[in-house]
Amino acid sequence: MMSKVVMAGALVALLVSSRMAVAAEVNVYSYRQPYLIKPLFAAFTKETGIKVNTVYAQEGLVQRLENEGANSPADLIFTVDIGRLTDAYGAGVTQAVNSDVLNANIPAAYRATNGHWYGLTSRARVIAASKERVKEGEISTYEQLADPTWKGRICTRSGKHPYMVALTASMIVHHGEAEAKAWLAGLKSNLARKPQGNDRAQAKAIKEGQCDLALMNHYYMAQMMRDKDEAAWADAIYLVFPNQNDRGTHLNISGMALTKSAPHKDDAIKLMEFLSGDLAQRMYAEDNSEYPLKQGVPWSGLLASWGEFKADTISLDQVAKNRIKAIKMADEVQYDAD
Ligand code: FE
Repeated sequence: MMSKVVMAGALVALLVSSRMAVAAEVNVYSYRQPYLIKPLFAAFTKETGIKVNTVYAQEGLVQRLENEGANSPADLIFTVDIGRLTDAYGAGVTQAVNSDVLNANIPAAYRATNGHWYGLTSRARVIAASKERVKEGEISTYEQLADPTWKGRICTRSGKHPYMVALTASMIVHHGEAEAKAWLAGLKSNLARKPQGNDRAQAKAIKEGQCDLALMNHYYMAQMMRDKDEAAWADAIYLVFPNQNDRGTHLNISGMALTKSAPHKDDAIKLMEFLSGDLAQRMYAEDNSEYPLKQGVPWSGLLASWGEFKADTISLDQVAKNRIKAIKMADEVQYDAD
């Protein structure tokens, strides 16, 4: 027979574990908007009982983590762009995760070799071309953007925006610094106007006849198509997925990192693993018309209708290492000047 003492001990253990189950939670700092990630967290809570609390901000989250230091309540940081992920790592506010689940689900090119960040979805940096003024096949590579044929015919945003920086950094990785710089200078000399606006503003400029080509993240096409004021911009262009006959189209990612101080580390890793799985990958990608990173997860109807494409599988770690050089290069060629 069980003694009273043992039984009391078992009861206490039961109470403690049920109390812990109730208290299970993960705290997230997110640059991504609520509508994108709330449904994912709800699905996670439903499956695991672990609550997810989220702080949303447009900027300053890495600084906030630095200020809070070891006392930070945050377990995870969610953001877009390899630049922001590596900035978090560079600020020393992340820690490495080594999870067989994550490593199996997220291809090596789209996670940090040292485990400090993981990609979740990807975005292709495509060329937007005027339906009226650019014949199909007339442009097929990033390299051709520097060709004098396009003089005065290209629009882009600032050369120092993270999306442009990552593309330039990928050119440095593939071609070396000297060639990448000549390319960027060539692209600059082809611009129809001083770099300005966001990606969608370039499609608008094509619609308005200011330029014939632009660089854009693919999901903005989907956003414009859904927006009654912007649908005409989308209608004026078609997308070219560059470099299909060689290295493939440049990809960037949205991703996540475990914070250095994570108070709920084990549950946070459970959330990371959940987000790399089939259900969450499909949901997250569809929310913003992005591509899932896990192989075999179906694409949204629209993306599937655009067809498959060859993606540049260069490691984003390599791209990240060349970001500073790419920013300097934009200055050197005076990319953002009049
Ligand atoms: Fe964006």
